Amino acid sequence: AVLFGVSRTTAINAYRCLEQQGLVVTRVGSGTYVEELPAGREEEGRSVPWIQLMTPFPQLPLSTVLREILEVDFSGGSISLAAGMPDPALYPVELLRQGIAGSNNGINPVDLGHISTEGYGPLRNLVARMIADRGIESTGEDVMITAGSQQGLYLIGKALLEPGDYVVVESPTFIGAHQVFSASGARILSLPVAGQFPFSLLEDYLVRYRPKLLYVIPTYHNPTGRLMPENERRDLLKLAARHRLVVLEDDPYSELYYDEKPPASLKALDDYGGVVYLSTYSKVLFPGLRTGYVVAHPALLNRMAHEKQFIDLHSNNLAQWLLCRLLESDALREHLALVRGEYKKRRDALAKALRRYCGEELSFETPRGGFYIWCRNNRPVLSGRLLQQSAGEGVSFVPGEAFYVHPPEGEKEFRLCFVTHAEKPLQEGARRLARALAGIRRT
Ligand code: PMP
Repeated sequence: AVLFGVSRTTAINAYRCLEQQGLVVTRVGSGTYVEELPAGREEEGRSVPWIQLMTPFPQLPLSTVLREILEVDFSGGSISLAAGMPDPALYPVELLRQGIAGSNNGINPVDLGHISTEGYGPLRNLVARMIADRGIESTGEDVMITAGSQQGLYLIGKALLEPGDYVVVESPTFIGAHQVFSASGARILSLPVAGQFPFSLLEDYLVRYRPKLLYVIPTYHNPTGRLMPENERRDLLKLAARHRLVVLEDDPYSELYYDEKPPASLKALDDYGGVVYLSTYSKVLFPGLRTGYVVAHPALLNRMAHEKQFIDLHSNNLAQWLLCRLLESDALREHLALVRGEYKKRRDALAKALRRYCGEELSFETPRGGFYIWCRNNRPVLSGRLLQQSAGEGVSFVPGEAFYVHPPEGEKEFRLCFVTHAEKPLQEGARRLARALAGIRRT
């Protein structure tokens, strides 16, 4: 790259293209190597040319950062603050057992056959009732049940985006969203969201590029934990209405508030009908349920249902039936009260330990809800390098670059998830992080 005067980003992108075609593998902190078939399987690669048979990605490169992280060896007593996952010890197993065993809850065999692509009717109605508490007016007809909100993102992309369309996302943002938009061939415009919402930049994008979609996580943002204040929400909707912009509001965390309740969602404040609302039970219950939902205009849901038919006909009935039991019995409300109390303690424990052990080295703000503390290295320490050092100390996190459309943006930032572990391991995690930072200072 140096020899031919190619920029570092171009070289990284070229490696990513090769990696996505399976021609090379990247090992974090080591380098990029030509992929070899495992011993004894060399013949397979010669008999069927799998790589050449595969369709190209519509738009390259897609980030491989998360896959790379999974390859770092954190075996043996390591504390992972990386995945955005609730604590399995808090999964409502007893409530589930009661839901399944309850005497009046015998499942109707009819419910085990095929159901409507949009989802199990009783659950769609219960979701509409549940989100009425968040000020969102809807009926079951406006709700589609999806296999996690990740599938909702995919279906919305399928229904609305074609190659060359523009999508605006916050920067940083949830990696699973910007990758799904990129995979549909859309071009991504990013809005920096540190501090005030950049309205003039957004307006500039709206006028110049006429984007199809704005994707936002207004409440306890992933990865920054930011909460969009109510006045910003109203201003955003006014601007969106003027430009007839579709706003995709992703809201997995709003029930996980640790101080006062968050402001009303964009969907609740929407009076021009342009907000599509997306949420999930992955964060408030457990991710293996694979159940999320989209609330949108029936015309959009209808098109999404056509796309969903191609991939799974409808989401899993048992998960939907179980959720109905939990929602009818108020079990979700009880569970939320429990986890809010617990996660608040964990947030405070991690924030305190970070200040105590890493004080000078890191900047962060304590989030008012959600799962994440977003840190910035005060010294010129790259988070990828810190992750390597941390692997040796037995703690992990997600480096900031994973959340940006244009790495190496975010190279000095990283995300810590504070809900997966109890207070003691969180404090130990902060201590290990401090040791990793000290280790880098010495080198
Ligand atoms: N959106 C956001 C903002 C998320 O943080 C996540 C999970 N990390 C998802 C969507 C996907 O969630 P699900 O498990 O429902 O697919």
